Amino acid sequence: MPDKTTLRKLSDAVEANFEEQVRFLADIVRHPSLRGREAPLQDHMYRWFGGRGYTVDRFSIADVHWLDHPKASPMVGVDPAGSFQVVATKRCASPAGRSLIIQGHIDVVPEGPVEMWSFPPYGGTVKDGWMYGRGAHDMKSGVSAMCFAMEALRAAGFAPAADVHLQTVTEEESTGNGALATLLRGYRAEACLIPEPTGGTITRAHTGTLWFRIRVRGVPVHVAVAQSGSNAIMSGYHLIQALQEHTRQLNETAKTDKWYSGIQDPIKFNPGMIRGGDWASSTPAWCEIDCRIGLLPGQDIATQQRAVEKAVADAAKTDHFLANNPPEVQWNGFLADGYVLEPGSEAETVLAEAHRAAFGQEMSARITTAVNDTRFYGLYFDMPALCYGPKGEGAHAFDERTNLEHLKTTTLAMAAFIADWCGLQAID
Ligand code: ZN
Repeated sequence: MPDKTTLRKLSDAVEANFEEQVRFLADIVRHPSLRGREAPLQDHMYRWFGGRGYTVDRFSIADVHWLDHPKASPMVGVDPAGSFQVVATKRCASPAGRSLIIQGHIDVVPEGPVEMWSFPPYGGTVKDGWMYGRGAHDMKSGVSAMCFAMEALRAAGFAPAADVHLQTVTEEESTGNGALATLLRGYRAEACLIPEPTGGTITRAHTGTLWFRIRVRGVPVHVAVAQSGSNAIMSGYHLIQALQEHTRQLNETAKTDKWYSGIQDPIKFNPGMIRGGDWASSTPAWCEIDCRIGLLPGQDIATQQRAVEKAVADAAKTDHFLANNPPEVQWNGFLADGYVLEPGSEAETVLAEAHRAAFGQEMSARITTAVNDTRFYGLYFDMPALCYGPKGEGAHAFDERTNLEHLKTTTLAMAAFIADWCGLQAID
C-alpha cells in the first residue's frame, strides 16, 4: 500500500478534483449513449483523454477480426462499423511495476417511460448527495472514478510506474463485443479492473447470458371467425410459459452449484420485448419475442442453446397450430459465459488493501445473477479481472442514481490500487 503521506496526498487530490469529477459525470450522463448511438460520447471521451496527455486509440468493432473469434456474439440490428471503442494509454518510459487495464462501458439501456422518472433521465440532476440519470450508476459513475483516480495521481505529483490503459467500450449490455474488440486490437495488461457499480464489493462470480428471438407465424382471419385462424400472440404466450418451466428445471440443478447454491433461482429468464399483430380485429399473423436467459459459470453455451431450442420445439408439438408451423429461435445477441474470479489472486489482495485504506473496512465479495465484461479478460485472455466499483441504485430501472460520497471514496480506493499495483514515479 502507498504510505500514509502518499495516501493523504491522493485523498486531498480526489477531494480537490471532486467537483470537477461530478461535472464530468453529469456531462457524460447527458449523452444518451444508447446502443448504436454511443459515438458522440466516445468522441467526447477521445477529446477528454487527448487533452490530458493520453495516447488515444479510437477504432470500431469492424476494425478488428471479431467475427473470427469463437466468443464473439452476433450483432443484429446494429452496425459494428459504428460501434467505437476508445483506449487511452499512459505509457511508462521505464516500467518498474505491473501494467493495468481499467475498463468501463458507456452504453446504457433504454430509459423506459419518462413519466416514471423523478428527474429527466439524461439530465444528470444532483439531489441530496445522489446523481440521477440513465447510466449515472451503471456504469458512468465507474468511468468517472477511473478517470479521476488517474487525475488524482497526477495532481499529487505521481505517474504510474507501468503502462495503464483506460478504456471506454460499447456493447456491454448486449454482446460484450466492445471489450472483445479491445483485446483483439492487441491491448493486454497484468490485470484488469472493471469499475461496475458493485457497492464496494468484489464480484466473485457472475452468470452468463443468452439472448434469443422467438418468431411465430399465425394465420390472419377476421376475429369473428377466430376459431378458423391461429393467434400468433397466444402461441407466443404458450412458448413463454414453456420457457418459464424450462427455467424452473434449470434452477433445480443450480441448487447444487458451488457458487450459486446459496442464491434462490439464480437463472433468470426474461421475455423483454414483444411485438406482433397488425389490427385489433384480426387474429395476429406474427409475433416476435426477444428473450434473455442466464447460465451458470462452467455451463457450456452450445448445450444451453440446444436446451432452449428443445424446450421451444417440445412446446410447439403440444400446440395444434405450432406443430405444423414450427417457431424459429434466432440467436441475436449475448452468447456469454459465466465467470468466477477464483479467490487468492495477487490483484484481488492488492485491491482489498486499497479498499481497506480508503473505506476503513474489509472488502466483501458478491455473487451476481447478471453478466459483465470480466469474462473476456479472465476466461479467454488469461489476466485476473476484478469487478469492483461505486454504490448506487436502479440499474436498468427508473430513477437510476449513484451515491456521490461513495463515489468519491471509491475513486480514492482506485487511486490507491493503481499506486500499489503499478507503483509510482514522481513527476516534476
Ligand atoms: Zn454495467
